[in-house]
Amino acid sequence: MHPFALSRAEDPGAAIVAHASDPQLAFIAGGTDLIGLIKDRAARPAHLLDINSLPDMARIEPLPNGGLRIGALARMSDVAAHAEVRRRFPVIAEGLLFAASGQLRNMASMGGNIMQRTRCAYFRDEDPLPCNKRRPGSGCSALHGFNRNHAIFGWSEACVATNPSDVAVAFAAMDANVIVRGRTGERSIPFTEFHRLPGTTPERDTALGQGDLIVAIEVPPRVEGRASHYLKVRDRQSYEFALVSAAAAVATDGRRIRSARLAMGGVAHKPWRLVAAEAALRGVSLDDIHALERAIATSFTDARPLAHNVFKVELAQRVALRALETAGARV
Ligand SMILES: Cc1cc2nc3c(=O)[nH]c(=O)nc-3n(C[C@H](O)[C@H](O)[C@H](O)COP(=O)(O)OP(=O)(O)OC[C@H]3O[C@@H](n4cnc5c(N)ncnc54)[C@H](O)[C@@H]3O)c2cc1C
Ligand code: SF4
Repeated sequence: MHPFALSRAEDPGAAIVAHASDPQLAFIAGGTDLIGLIKDRAARPAHLLDINSLPDMARIEPLPNGGLRIGALARMSDVAAHAEVRRRFPVIAEGLLFAASGQLRNMASMGGNIMQRTRCAYFRDEDPLPCNKRRPGSGCSALHGFNRNHAIFGWSEACVATNPSDVAVAFAAMDANVIVRGRTGERSIPFTEFHRLPGTTPERDTALGQGDLIVAIEVPPRVEGRASHYLKVRDRQSYEFALVSAAAAVATDGRRIRSARLAMGGVAHKPWRLVAAEAALRGVSLDDIHALERAIATSFTDARPLAHNVFKVELAQRVALRALETAGARV
């Protein structure tokens, strides 16, 4: 085990300064991802700064505009069980409940969840093969290796990994914002811009830099929120990451879709919004399966599957359709 020093932060300002001035320092919340990465030698921080005592970061509270603010230190299980989250954004509650295990969800924080790193086996292996995310410039073993679990959208020659967070997919569909406090004050990052595509720098997963602390995630008051659903397909029914998943939400006039929100997990380096499908779904009847299928297909014309995940192109469209139908049944 890689040795590290551990200290506790009591003040957010001091935590941000400490993080900004020391590239060897990492924040730790639940530790359910970071400790695993340290054990796998995929992270080697010299200093862990425990942020669990920082004030006001574990609350789940309504916003004046009708939205919800979810503190970065709120635990996954508390958010999933929260009455307002369940009532107004079932897609978020389900995105959490289908993740990990009960024990992990009790420990794991929301900020840590959206910061978790890819589950690409080449990246996680204790004795890794070439991996640009782990050792920039070393190559990507998955590109021509075993890539069944990898991306079909937005990948580059440098990295074909997917983002493993379930609830991130729900947040992307709901147009949530990540509230970050840094050296120059607080800023709000649209969820769809929080995670990055790999490009030539796959070692960077998010828009955050040194000295950035996630304080909350804010969900705007979307009309589609109540009629929403998260569907996750995986190799076993619990305690498993998504092969493919979909977050769907709709607002309707009768049975006709007024607006739809669709995002997918397990298909890209970030939650993948089906923007073309959302536009094509406007005005379509929820009872017209073929029209729904055609609308969803508009977002798959640029899918680029790898050698072992061609099946994901069809599976993802089926998952999106089923998620949309279930959301529609909740109108
Ligand atoms: C066996 C197993 C199965 C799992 N299955 C799933 C699954 O199916 N779906 C799913 O979505 N997840 C799954 N997970 C991942 C799990 O949800 C994450 O490990 C957890 O959410 C991370 O939260 P944490 O508080 O423990 O983060 P930590 O491990 O403490 O931190 C993770 C990262 O986030 C950073 N960080 C934490 N808080 C902040 C903050 N406020 N600001 C800035 N940076 C911060 C840390 O520095 C670190 O880099 C699984 C994990 C395990 C071990
Ligand atoms: S897909 Fe990304 S994480 Fe996996 S081996 Fe390639 S560079 Fe590494």
